[in-house]
Amino acid sequence: MQQSTITFYGGAGTVTGSNFMLDTGGAKFLVDCGMQQGSHKDEEKNWVPFAYDAKEVSHLIVTHAHIDHIGRIPWLVKQGFAGTILSTAATRALAEPMLHDAFKLLDMKEADTPYTPVHIEKALSLWKVAQYGEDVALADGCTVALHDAGHILGSAMATITRNGRTVLFSGDIGGGNSPLLPHIDTLPKAQYVLLESVYGDRVRQDEDRRERLENVIEDSAGRGGTLLIPAFSTERTQDLLYEIKTLMSEKRVPAMPVYVDSPLASKVTAVFIQELGKGDIFSFPGLKFIETTEESRALEHAPNPKIILAGSGMSTGGRVIAHERWVLPDNKSTLLIVGYQAAGSVGRRLLEGAKTVDLHHEPVKVGAKVEAIFGYSAHRDGEGLLELVNKSSDGIEKVFVVEGEPASAAFLTQRIRDYLSVDAVAPSAGEQAVINL
Ligand SMILES: [Zn+2]
Repeated sequence: MQQSTITFYGGAGTVTGSNFMLDTGGAKFLVDCGMQQGSHKDEEKNWVPFAYDAKEVSHLIVTHAHIDHIGRIPWLVKQGFAGTILSTAATRALAEPMLHDAFKLLDMKEADTPYTPVHIEKALSLWKVAQYGEDVALADGCTVALHDAGHILGSAMATITRNGRTVLFSGDIGGGNSPLLPHIDTLPKAQYVLLESVYGDRVRQDEDRRERLENVIEDSAGRGGTLLIPAFSTERTQDLLYEIKTLMSEKRVPAMPVYVDSPLASKVTAVFIQELGKGDIFSFPGLKFIETTEESRALEHAPNPKIILAGSGMSTGGRVIAHERWVLPDNKSTLLIVGYQAAGSVGRRLLEGAKTVDLHHEPVKVGAKVEAIFGYSAHRDGEGLLELVNKSSDGIEKVFVVEGEPASAAFLTQRIRDYLSVDAVAPSAGEQAVINL
């Protein structure tokens, strides 16, 4: 039997920064090349040279277009990568605006940036697309196939197969609660599974998220304030727009202006409309996409009640910060958290009940209500992950639990071993495993 190695260069012991290498001896493949996100200190680590020679990598397989899975692709290209990038068509379509936006968010002097838009264009020129279920030949006798992961538009789990043996890279697996995506209830057949564990130690509250959203919107309207929702530009914003549109058209909440203040979310919504092919399913009276910074600044004085969705989703940058400066001190207003908040992020501190947070190095008092609805999570919870492995456990020889904070990954690892009697480990960053493939 042939042997290969998997090296967990990123996305091991942490949620973000996914970067896994499969080395078959005759070829090197990467799966995802994401940015680490969270504090400034975490983000600085993104621009150190890779621990491998980028020129030797023949293929980069991309599971989905979130920046913690694609953010360092231009950096990889700058380091000499000239192989093939492969993903679904929707992932490629989303990656283009996402990468350009991430470049702007670097917020550095031109001379100091680790890469330039030229490297983004070069990456896109190397980028090929595949359909779900299509077998694509790689190198050294390997093939890859992409399978819908139900996480965001275009998201995929990737299986790499050689001689009838398969390793599965789960990427991020959807929570099964998006109004726009399919629910995934089995994993593709594989002997080895790299399994995400973002919410590995959490059981999602059995909540009616639409009803909770309804209550938060009503409460905020009743108090005459602003409802500010930091939201990821991709999937979360579109899911929420769809939900708010439904609540308003069913008259379950009062009609009020809804502003999407993220040029990236506007571009991404356009990609959704094009890729879903169902026409403009998001628009409703009162919805406005904000483009210029002048319009964005004017929102503070737009009449209440109102709803603002702005990026970034973890309050680590983007236009949401400027709004938080006036929303957070206001006790009539509400900040609603609807997604994963990395350790060290402003969003995480708000979630943990901080009374003051630093925004652009200035302390801001928190007088506003802070609410959280996790039913919108784009990730499967711990129970759901365990069940997925259980249903697919026939033939699994080992599970590598990745993309989780250490406690979360350790908890899920233990449960896979104890409840399912399947071998499982939570590798740490830089670790290497030998597999029979
Ligand atoms: Zn993701």
